[in-house]
Amino acid sequence: MYNKTIAELAKGLRSGEFSSVELTLAFLDRIKQHSSLNAYITVTEELALQEAKAADQRLATGDAELLTGIPVAQKDIFCTDGVKTSCGSKMLDNFIAPYNATVVEKFNNAGAVMLGKLNMDEFAMGSSNETSYYGAVKNPWDINTVPGGSSGGSAAAVAARLAACATGTDTGGSIRQPAALCGITGLKPTYGRVSRYGMIAYASSLDQGGPMARSAEDAAIMLQAMAGFDPKDSTSVDLPVPDYTVGLNNSLEGLKIGLPKEFFSEGLSNDVAVAIEAAINEYRKLGATVTEICMPSLKLAIPAYYVIAPAECSANLSRFDGVRFGYRCENPVDLTDLYTRSRGEGFGKEVKRRILMGTYALSAGYYDAYYIKAQKIRRLISEDFKRALSEVDVIMGPVTPSTAFGIGEKIGNPIEMYLSDIYTIAINLAGVPAMSVPAGFASGMPVGLQVIGNYFAEDRLLNIAHQYQQVTDWHSHAPKGFE
Ligand code: GLN
Repeated sequence: MYNKTIAELAKGLRSGEFSSVELTLAFLDRIKQHSSLNAYITVTEELALQEAKAADQRLATGDAELLTGIPVAQKDIFCTDGVKTSCGSKMLDNFIAPYNATVVEKFNNAGAVMLGKLNMDEFAMGSSNETSYYGAVKNPWDINTVPGGSSGGSAAAVAARLAACATGTDTGGSIRQPAALCGITGLKPTYGRVSRYGMIAYASSLDQGGPMARSAEDAAIMLQAMAGFDPKDSTSVDLPVPDYTVGLNNSLEGLKIGLPKEFFSEGLSNDVAVAIEAAINEYRKLGATVTEICMPSLKLAIPAYYVIAPAECSANLSRFDGVRFGYRCENPVDLTDLYTRSRGEGFGKEVKRRILMGTYALSAGYYDAYYIKAQKIRRLISEDFKRALSEVDVIMGPVTPSTAFGIGEKIGNPIEMYLSDIYTIAINLAGVPAMSVPAGFASGMPVGLQVIGNYFAEDRLLNIAHQYQQVTDWHSHAPKGFE
């Protein structure tokens, strides 16, 4: 039963084929069996069984929602009342959140069962899950490779069938890149579509939570539960939430696809390019027309992002000082010692690198040269997207330049690591929604197709992904040993 999609599980729960308690026990068993993947930081076994019992009662009354009784797992960046919320950091290793993130609350209200909290790069900074205080996560398709990051635990857990679905967050690619490397379906919504309340902040103007699932239909079901205005998040957008499942079967006849030539230049590995071309051809067969487009500012996305994201993180992470939150060093001699040692010992290397870069970029004398300049580039990138999306309905391309790389291969070279998000980062700077859709394999490793749409066009993206998943079965392959 762990191989089924949410839609199939919901049917099984209703027909009495299995109960939520049985389903939850099956997943808990698999989590133990495959603990060497290191996908979970915390498994909330007791709580999960309590929630499953309550879900079974709700199902019996006929007042259930699609997610009622479905075992989901939360990225450990979302605050969970009474449950450790570490954000992948030693700094928060002892933090028991006193409230639920809005996203968590919404899953609870829908009657979903939380299996536990998923491993991630420390404070969501990374592209390989190797910066986690809790150790690297392994990619179930090849345990010597990374699952991607920062939502690597989420992607590995969904791919290995250790949860029916999972939440992720995406600041520069952290839903789409791991989804691509693990062969699952991920969606980064429009900035403001999903509440950030209770989602530990990395770069507030870029962070966005979203679904990571086995299919586009499952992602639609999850987004339905997650999306919506939240008065507790001042950047959440007050627009009605459409029904994300109703248009899944709409025809793609006449769909205009744009392929930015910047996405297909040097740096893209040949085997990924071949898989992406084959996927585009499927769309041609489904009635789409394809044109090449030009987005000249895309090449500036990585440098602009690595000024803006560190700048925002240096401000957001200043609260972790050993006094108000987080780890406190042993026997401080005075206040300065308390601050410096708590932060020095509590944060990992990559987080410190970001704080240093961000503090530098924001300092008097450099602010105009770096931060303001980066903001101007951000504006140019947004305009590239607006222009392109007035000519075509969606933009397509690869999610990543290559398939999953080896554990240890890039962690010593930050620039090379940063380049693994070359196709995803611009989307966050513009704030538009984008998906990663399984589009085949290269040497046995999954490849992701990226589908980028206009602001709040999540329903259209889900429709486009779902139609592709009706004529291909890449999304339903399971890694060997995890079937
Ligand atoms: N890899 C990028 C970074 O380290 C993006 C991470 C993310 O989206 N959270 O900043």
